[in-house]
Amino acid sequence: MTDPILETLESDTQAASGAEVVALVAEYFDSTRDGTGAVSTELTPEQLAVRFDEPLPRGGQSLRHVAQRLRTDVMADANRLYHPMYMGHQVAPPLPAAVWTEPLISVMNQSVAVWEMSPTATVIEHRVIRWMTDLVGWDEASGGTLTSGGTEATFTALLAARNAIIPDAWTDGVGANPPVVLCGEHAHYAVSRALGELGLGVRSLVTIPSREFRMDPDALERALVDARASGKAVMAVVATVGSTATGSFDDLSAIGAICDAHGVWLHVDGAHGASALLSESRAAALHGLERARSLAWDPHKGMLLPIATGMLLMRDDRDLQRAFAQRAPYLFHERVGARAWDLGKESFQCSRRADVLKLWVVLQRYGADGIGRVYDHLCDVTRDLYDAITSRSDFEALHAPESNILCFRYLGGGNRDSDFIDALNRNLRAAYNRSGKGWITLTVLEGRPVLRVTLMNHRTRTHHTRALLDGLAAEAAKLISE
Ligand SMILES: *Cc1c(COP(=O)(O)O)cnc(C)c1O
Repeated sequence: MTDPILETLESDTQAASGAEVVALVAEYFDSTRDGTGAVSTELTPEQLAVRFDEPLPRGGQSLRHVAQRLRTDVMADANRLYHPMYMGHQVAPPLPAAVWTEPLISVMNQSVAVWEMSPTATVIEHRVIRWMTDLVGWDEASGGTLTSGGTEATFTALLAARNAIIPDAWTDGVGANPPVVLCGEHAHYAVSRALGELGLGVRSLVTIPSREFRMDPDALERALVDARASGKAVMAVVATVGSTATGSFDDLSAIGAICDAHGVWLHVDGAHGASALLSESRAAALHGLERARSLAWDPHKGMLLPIATGMLLMRDDRDLQRAFAQRAPYLFHERVGARAWDLGKESFQCSRRADVLKLWVVLQRYGADGIGRVYDHLCDVTRDLYDAITSRSDFEALHAPESNILCFRYLGGGNRDSDFIDALNRNLRAAYNRSGKGWITLTVLEGRPVLRVTLMNHRTRTHHTRALLDGLAAEAAKLISE
């Protein structure tokens, strides 16, 4: 007699079983459409933990029962990114065609480590990477790989830069006088983290001050000269397009020219902002990008893919092949024959999901231009929010938006001291999010707490951002009267 579990597995392969879960996805899309209901939960992690505090299930239950628990216990208190009032972190309510592709990626489970494990997906990844490097303006020598995100992409780019400047680092380590890396003061912590991981030490990071939240190119020039004068080699300069806090774009033309003049590797962290390449009107913000030697670009940010869809692009793919070569580069042989297709040697990961399929699907379904227009829509609504803020006396904007991110503060009426305003904004964010009316973030700019929104949702329109300001003002009035 065969174990009934084998029959359970077989019955779960039927479309009717899948429909139980697909129904939840459709229900989620529907229930978030008109902007009713809370955006997030008011429960604490401890309260939620009680719900899941149960012994390891030894036996199984019906899929219907499990689906019901997903509905009541998981979905009910998840952050509803598809709700038009979700304006928090840089995480997308993912493009629907990508969502529907996820189960297909899972069921085929093609590992893109080696071509023989993923005959079509590996070839598609090469194709998609080529489309993207074409957009950057690079030639056939360029290449890259998909990554889990911007953190892995920047880590890998800096690993490649390390191996370029210290060819024997893989076997001998980085030595007692490691090179330095220069980045803007608003760079993502992925940069400093990579320095720790790569054995250079976070002390090898030099931060360059900014002007209006963008790296100051004159200060970069001075820092490069200073580094040289103090006997430090420079491994790389990291510029950011679409900085995390304010969505600002560093001037890649100016920075690229300086890096060229000094013969220094330029890595561009475009995790958030590189997707502007798809926008007809906003691609100009990336002028000079082709000067970079490596680029981190997260389709799971500006292209609204589900996590995890990151990308590292290289101007010269051999830099990436050498990054993970477990022999000094002078011993390294070019990839040949069928192995030339294998992507595993260019990645931190071994088994790797064919996430490229959902990227390929959304490009087929909406076209690069369509996705660029969604990006424009998000930036336009953000610009409108900025205009609304500057026309009101109870709020102030900290910067004009360069993308879909905006930082601002609630000031209220009258003259209040700045400590009061700081505390008010901190409490306001917490109270507003708890209210369920919307969901935003808080960051610190120049030492002061500020409210921050990232508009990632195609459903968010200007009447929603007006509702945000009115909702915040109403919560603030309550806080002040308490
Ligand atoms: C989000 C972000 C990162 C980190 O990317 P992950 O995909 O979260 O790993 C790095 N740099 C910038 C500028 C980002 O916005």
